[in-house]
Amino acid sequence: DIRVRYAPSPTGNPHVGLIRTALFNWAYARRNGGKVVFRIEDTDTARSTEESYRDILDAWRWLGLDWDEGVEVGGEHGPYRQSERMDVYRDVVEKLKDAGRAYPCYCSPEELEARRDAARAAGRPSGYDGRCRDLTGEQIAAYRAEGRKPVLRFRMPDRTITFPDLVRGELTFEPEHVPDYTLLRADGSPLYTLTNPVDDALMGITHVLRGEDLLSSTPRQIALYEALGEVGVTDGRVPLFGHLPYVMGEGNKKLSKRDPQASLNLYRERGFLPEGLLNYLALLGWSMGPDQDRFSMAELVAAFDVADVNPNPARFDLKKAEAINAEHIRMLEADDFAARLVPFLFDAAAGGPTKEQLDLLAQAAPLVQERMTVLDEVKGMLGFLFVAPEDFAVDEADAAKILKGNAGEVLDAATAALEALDTWATAPIEEALRTALIDGLGLKPRVAFGALRVAVTGRRVSPPLFESMELLGRDESLRRLRAARP
Ligand code: GLU
Repeated sequence: DIRVRYAPSPTGNPHVGLIRTALFNWAYARRNGGKVVFRIEDTDTARSTEESYRDILDAWRWLGLDWDEGVEVGGEHGPYRQSERMDVYRDVVEKLKDAGRAYPCYCSPEELEARRDAARAAGRPSGYDGRCRDLTGEQIAAYRAEGRKPVLRFRMPDRTITFPDLVRGELTFEPEHVPDYTLLRADGSPLYTLTNPVDDALMGITHVLRGEDLLSSTPRQIALYEALGEVGVTDGRVPLFGHLPYVMGEGNKKLSKRDPQASLNLYRERGFLPEGLLNYLALLGWSMGPDQDRFSMAELVAAFDVADVNPNPARFDLKKAEAINAEHIRMLEADDFAARLVPFLFDAAAGGPTKEQLDLLAQAAPLVQERMTVLDEVKGMLGFLFVAPEDFAVDEADAAKILKGNAGEVLDAATAALEALDTWATAPIEEALRTALIDGLGLKPRVAFGALRVAVTGRRVSPPLFESMELLGRDESLRRLRAARP
């Protein structure tokens, strides 16, 4: 049975690269009836924070990337936070040491660096040179007497390592490029290099889809999986790996975690829909087929295969992300769309919307659904319907451009025509205004209605004018027309 995992380190804001990786794992598992395990890699205690942990869970829930086993939900392979698994790692380390697969290394960072530089200068591979591999008891005693504290290194086998990458095809690493590596720090704390493959093995992970930046650690991890089998921790099974392409940002540079463009919160705050954002992120290295850029998560699951992932770097294109989001907005059911606008229009801390405001929003939302790219545009588009009369103000720049010249005359004629109206509804409003302004005053519609638009909605760009007036109501519409007289 297929088992994949999310394995983020809680060391910052969730970013789009992390989510693209999670999405592909999720889609692969869901496509194949597999299980998703959610594990938190928080052994780097200096950089891991509880806040980041909460942000990550919150982000995954918002996105709808669910999991079957792991943090919060539990399961038979827990605990799922590595900081709670120290006894597991200690036990594994003892077994590796007993079998001679791990050894203490007393080289100081300065010594390592000097030898690395020398190797580079001589054109030799510059990884760890194996100096402490076979220390005698005397040598060890001497290092100890100097007060040195060792790190623990894994002894790599002296052979070529080959594996079938699910994205890139067969990959081969020669031993001189995969040196012995560190499992424990000098203070005895475990490193990612140990905990990540140990947990993948113990949690029965069968497929690891992760970023290309981790490719160089894969041959090391494969050797460790095999060693875990040799020392009886597991049956020695090695998962299949697929390395997902880099995501390139501005200037064709790798999108880094610290890039503001990479932060999920940015997209969330701007009002990307989770399904719109995920749809776009799926296109970073994968496609459903020509001319099918927009799809639902169900369609993604039905079509996803990791073998179709393109190994070439993918370019993050904000304009395209927005265009796809706009399409998802257009596809929402009317009441769903209105509900999603609520947090962008009303302050929950201040009590949220009233029943009347919700009704008004339900009527107004269809006026803007086709025009919206991200949900936080709604304040600019519909905010005029929800401000208290005393807080309403027209945009100053728009007013300066439009409410001048004969605008006073236009507003007066409109006010008079509307005051005489029996029924306050879109069609009669439009008819009365056309009669008074276009036929009566001989104005061009753009001029006449431009002035009314700024007066009533506060801006030169707004939802359709006559509908807006109907929704705003007679009294407030007339009040604004009068108040806007230059
Ligand atoms: N905790 C690792 C990271 O966030 C996971 C690496 C992996 O997926 O193997 O980089």
